Amino acid sequence: MTYRTRFAPSPTGLLHLGHAFSALLAHDRAQAAGGTFLLRIEDIDQPRCKPEFEAAILEDLHWLGLAWPRPVLRQSDRIQAYDAALDRLVSLGLCYPCRCRRRDIRAALAAPQEGSQNGPDGPAYPGTCRGRSMNRATPQDAIRLDMRRALDLLGDPGATFNETGPLYRGEHRIDPQELLHSVGDVVLARRDIGTSYHIAVVVDDSAQQITEVVRGADLFAATQIHVLLQLLLELPTPSYHHHDLVRDEHGKRLAKRDDARAIAHYRQQGATPATIRRMVGL
Ligand code: GLU
Repeated sequence: MTYRTRFAPSPTGLLHLGHAFSALLAHDRAQAAGGTFLLRIEDIDQPRCKPEFEAAILEDLHWLGLAWPRPVLRQSDRIQAYDAALDRLVSLGLCYPCRCRRRDIRAALAAPQEGSQNGPDGPAYPGTCRGRSMNRATPQDAIRLDMRRALDLLGDPGATFNETGPLYRGEHRIDPQELLHSVGDVVLARRDIGTSYHIAVVVDDSAQQITEVVRGADLFAATQIHVLLQLLLELPTPSYHHHDLVRDEHGKRLAKRDDARAIAHYRQQGATPATIRRMVGL
């Protein structure tokens, strides 16, 4: 299988050093493998995505010397594909509508729950709406995955994924106990956008025939969710390469709003693409 990877920015801010590292690394790995580097615009969160950020990101990526095939996949054009994936999970009896607002969840979690910890989307959902029927779903509801049912359906999935990044290199087995207690019933469709990052990323990595996902280590914890969804949707599991995050001089990870670390800022100060490569250790 020829190597295919992608860089998948959300146009909610300027491209900063951390993103540049991700994009350059993915691009370099594709080149070294004689494969393909793809760009994907992750713009499902429409209220937060801005055309001017997208234009600035593309401009910075070109400036860095990156090229990619067109047309570029844009997630806001793919809502039907995400709906189809959600429908499939619903038809397997694995979903329920949830009307809890953030404050309801916080209140329910105020009573400490035995064995429950934080997952990649925050504390595991306390299960208030679990058992509500999808027939009763309203447009004001989010849709959640019933994690216990999903795991029961798969039996002991014994699923693994291959990690090629330096931080977690090796074969990783998905952990049903952790999925149940730390991750919990993740949201598959947010009430405001009708889908979620987890569904979109899994559906698109498969549609784009990605063989290795290159992304920041902050998404390592979400990978178990993605592998679980791939199993449920009968999609292939790619390899993963989670790279270390670029941090500021205080060791804090860079945020999109941290414009001092934006590539545009370094460009204004006369940096070249080679300077940026050096700064991120490539
Ligand atoms: N769109 C995500 C971000 O900008 C990246 C998601 C991924 O690579 O899986 O952080």
